[in-house]
Amino acid sequence: MLQITDLHATIADKPILKGLSLTVATGEIHAIMGPNGAGKSTLSYVLGGRPGYEVTGGSATFNGEDLLALDPHERAAAGLFLGFQYPVEIPGVSSLQFLREALNSQRKARGEDPLTGGEFLKLAREKAALLKLDPELLKRHVNVGFSGGEKKRAEMVQMGILDPAFAVLDETDSGLDIDALRVVGEGINAIMRRPDKGVLLITHYQRLLDYVRPDRVHILSRGRIVRSGGPELARQLEAEGYESLSGAVTA
Ligand code: ADP
Ligand code: MG
Repeated sequence: MLQITDLHATIADKPILKGLSLTVATGEIHAIMGPNGAGKSTLSYVLGGRPGYEVTGGSATFNGEDLLALDPHERAAAGLFLGFQYPVEIPGVSSLQFLREALNSQRKARGEDPLTGGEFLKLAREKAALLKLDPELLKRHVNVGFSGGEKKRAEMVQMGILDPAFAVLDETDSGLDIDALRVVGEGINAIMRRPDKGVLLITHYQRLLDYVRPDRVHILSRGRIVRSGGPELARQLEAEGYESLSGAVTA
């Protein structure tokens, strides 16, 4: 479903990704772990097409299509969703307006009819309930004044509404209390654990993986995948740290 081959990318001419290869088959959830500064967020931005991140080599295909040739909005319309480590605030735009606009523009790009206001509200309420987020929050400006946990839940509500084929979730668990972590983990399963979808889950902690059980775990260090394994690799990391795992030295 997602195939990344020997990907190289720079930020401001500084090489960050240095030959990263990774394949996520349809129906799979893969976790990426790795030390700070390894390039995990860079990978998610490169996949999303964020300006300033220059691909200098390699390829990334999504369902066989050259992902890197698409504009960011075309990637979204193709079914790619990015959950940000630091969700942005958008003053002046309510979350409901923003989400309805985003959903309907994606539907339009796929040749589907837009949802009416009533249909959209019903969908938004349903997804907010799934993530145990007060639906009143969605009337406020995007993320403005939200607590860290509310931002992360709101992002998962956004994912539920957009119903993407593939999600790259960057430290969606950071800053969540124990109950919120469970709700978000169960939300990811409810929305994305499906035979026709895929997820790349960037995380530092085993706890999220207790809920969202990954099919594969990869360690990203210094811009490359240095080790891959099953769920036991994450447990081993938690017990031993990155340095003890051969080849996976601190970034
Ligand atoms: P991770 O998410 O694994 O902690 P990042 O992808 O955020 O790592 O960062 C990888 C490297 O890229 C770090 O050394 C970081 O300092 C550098 N970097 C990230 N953004 C920029 C930027 N805008 N300009 C210069 N260097 C950057
Ligand atoms: Mg990061």
